[in-house]
Amino acid sequence: MLPFKKLSEVDYRGARVLLRADLNAPLNHSEEGVRVANDFRIVAALPTIHMLRDGGAVVVLASHLGRPKGREETFSMRPVADRLAELGGFEVQQISEVVGPQVDAALALAQGGDVLLLENTRFHPGETRNDPQLAEDMAKGIDLFVFDAFGSAHRSHASISGVAQHVPSVAGPLVVAEVEAFGTLISDPPRPFTVVLGGAKVSDKLGVIKALLPKVDMMVIGGGMCFTLLSAEGFEIGKSLVEPDLVHEVREILSSADGDRILLPTDITVTERFSEDATPIVVRKNAIESDVMGLDIGPESAKNFAKVIRGSGSVFWNGPMGVFEWESFRAGTEAIGKAFRNHAGYTVVGGGDSVAAISLLRIEDEVSHLSTAGGAGLKLLEGAVLPGLQALERWK
Ligand code: AMP
Repeated sequence: MLPFKKLSEVDYRGARVLLRADLNAPLNHSEEGVRVANDFRIVAALPTIHMLRDGGAVVVLASHLGRPKGREETFSMRPVADRLAELGGFEVQQISEVVGPQVDAALALAQGGDVLLLENTRFHPGETRNDPQLAEDMAKGIDLFVFDAFGSAHRSHASISGVAQHVPSVAGPLVVAEVEAFGTLISDPPRPFTVVLGGAKVSDKLGVIKALLPKVDMMVIGGGMCFTLLSAEGFEIGKSLVEPDLVHEVREILSSADGDRILLPTDITVTERFSEDATPIVVRKNAIESDVMGLDIGPESAKNFAKVIRGSGSVFWNGPMGVFEWESFRAGTEAIGKAFRNHAGYTVVGGGDSVAAISLLRIEDEVSHLSTAGGAGLKLLEGAVLPGLQALERWK
């Protein structure tokens, strides 16, 4: 049983609802103006918005967008409002404030089914420091707070955990789906349970490695982060990415009893310079020369990793196996993605790059759960308390 109430469990007919969604869409700046470059997150938020409108609720949408330092017009929600209206087929009233008289006036006039979009929450200095006054002001005139931005649940910000102190609060359907998916992996993963990790840095994933290693049957590690592990095993890694201050800690993990369950690449695709047109060369992991860098796992490793994935009852994947943005160094990440094709087990993919790889292969429907979240999902798997979820508990 979830420790918080779900939107589907409360009566929101005719209510004035503040919906904290994740509308943090990548933007494209050109001479013609600013446009949404990828509407994945906007599309994901639509069912919740439709659900509320169908119930005759007034929907006040709040989200952050990028990392502005105060009010910076290039991070305005305007392009998001345009795309949302286009996709949703309803009018979106864009408000140029996060809180204040303009919001109050719009709310006073709003009718059931109306959609109001607040300006980027990070335009207000109180957002990231979770200012109690801002949280209270955001709750003004609101009957129900719906938290549906799982990707931000690990942050203690005013529009995430702050508002929930002031008004009855529930979890939206996206949050519920994410928590249930990660809950399955944490408490009862179908065996064998394999975790596949990649991406640039070990430091981002050390917590999850330590927390999950005792629970998994196999932990497969590729990407830039694998070189710190290969270095800890004593291999020459040349000019590959490495976090030297973590080598000692990683060596202890590898030599622990659980360390046997970590599977590292046996071959690496290396090159001489960090460039899209650099020539890829496959070498054994013990033959990396000092003047090259590894930018992908090799074909033998890709085959081995894919075999482990296919034989697993459940799989969690976060992070690319190499510099997948460049075609010459994409094969490893692609092989992992393909291993999810026709997979009969329970599969969860999280993090922007891994989800992008799944979209590239057009196999979104073959994954049990595609998570919008990178960091929040990893934190949940680590067993950390997420402020955005914890704040909902008092209303259970
Ligand atoms: P992360 O944000 O930690 O998930 O890392 C994703 C980034 O790591 C992507 O932009 C990849 O290009 C990059 N990456 C993956 N493998 C490597 C590698 N072997 N060397 C350098 N960068 C890498």
